Amino acid sequence: MGETVFTNVSVIDGTGAKPFDGAVLIRGDRIAEVVRGDIGDCGEAAIVDGGGATLMPGLIDAHAHLSFLDAATLGDINSLSAERHVLEAAKNARKMLDHGFTSMFSGSSARDNLEVALRDAINAGDIPGPRLKAATRQMTVTGGFGDIGQDDAYSLVLDGPEAFRKACRAAARAGVDTFKIVPSAQGTGPDPLAEDTAMSEDEVAAVCAVARQRGRMVAAHARSAEAVKICVRNGVQIIYHATLADDEAKDMLEAERHRVFVAPAMGLPYGRLTEGAKYGVTTDDFTRARAEREIETVSRTMADLRKRGIRVLPGGDYGFKWNPHGRNARDLAMFVELFGFSTLEAIQAATQAGGELMNEPVGLVTAGSLADLLLVDGDPTSDISILQEPGRFRAIMKDGTFHKVPEGNRRADLAAAE
Ligand SMILES: [Zn+2]
Repeated sequence: MGETVFTNVSVIDGTGAKPFDGAVLIRGDRIAEVVRGDIGDCGEAAIVDGGGATLMPGLIDAHAHLSFLDAATLGDINSLSAERHVLEAAKNARKMLDHGFTSMFSGSSARDNLEVALRDAINAGDIPGPRLKAATRQMTVTGGFGDIGQDDAYSLVLDGPEAFRKACRAAARAGVDTFKIVPSAQGTGPDPLAEDTAMSEDEVAAVCAVARQRGRMVAAHARSAEAVKICVRNGVQIIYHATLADDEAKDMLEAERHRVFVAPAMGLPYGRLTEGAKYGVTTDDFTRARAEREIETVSRTMADLRKRGIRVLPGGDYGFKWNPHGRNARDLAMFVELFGFSTLEAIQAATQAGGELMNEPVGLVTAGSLADLLLVDGDPTSDISILQEPGRFRAIMKDGTFHKVPEGNRRADLAAAE
């Protein structure tokens, strides 16, 4: 079994602990040993001298849409043929790995089975990409958010518990990891934050029951307080947005914090205001005011959830024109600037806590964890924004194999160690 050792690195282990100088030995696809200071003779292991660079777990995104092709509108998401769509999604998978994301939990697939195929091809080693929890299309109701009146759209429109149950069973048979539902609507009128719950509780309960029977997870787009409560009551694992969670909803989340996760997924309004112009998107005053209000509300809610010890995870709906794939690490900066996270806490959210959501031994630099690692030029605990620069990643490793080989290390040595 091949061995690689990273020496002379500053280790961020993902637990929120302060970085320490040390060395990390990789054997096969796992981290075999983490030591403080020097590791001594490692025999035949290929040596990567970090030169003081940071070694940290690969990043994890909790709300990804690899098959959303940086579309300008919801109607554009499925504008390509299904065949071309798959190839474009594969390009995004590679791009995410290039940007340091070694795991992604999907916030919905644009087409049935697309992400299952993508995940399986990645796992087989046929194409480069992150570990992926593959989702269904987002399942909504007639008139709910995502029902854009097209049959072959990115949402699946269902009504009644029987319809949801059948769709979930079919998706489980097809091999998805996650059922994505849309219990709350998205206010499109003058008040973007209007309380609006679209799915009924028996529909959510039917989805969660199939998930339990078939060992799948449930992810929900839930903005209204009522939608959040329905999700918590019925066992949804990850709640996206949670924008209008009131005190009762927050108390419920806190009581279930050992099993539930929240991801604010605020990349769309934030990206529009901060980078929209760069991507050629104009924003009228009405839309700007809505986005500002959403950012303000979400920031307040997430700061509160953080204080309550609820796991709040980065993952920001990347995959739109003004919020494109590759910008995902901006979420960590957002957590620091807007939600009151320290840089170490933001990294912990994107690594250890993300690994808990993935339900795999990832997100930590500890013996026994899968070797998904980044060698970063610089110290992200003093400047979290450097994680947004792929040029900072001197090495990217997934499953103990280099996706990006560190320069200055002889490729032959590293190849021989694999
Ligand atoms: Zn989304």
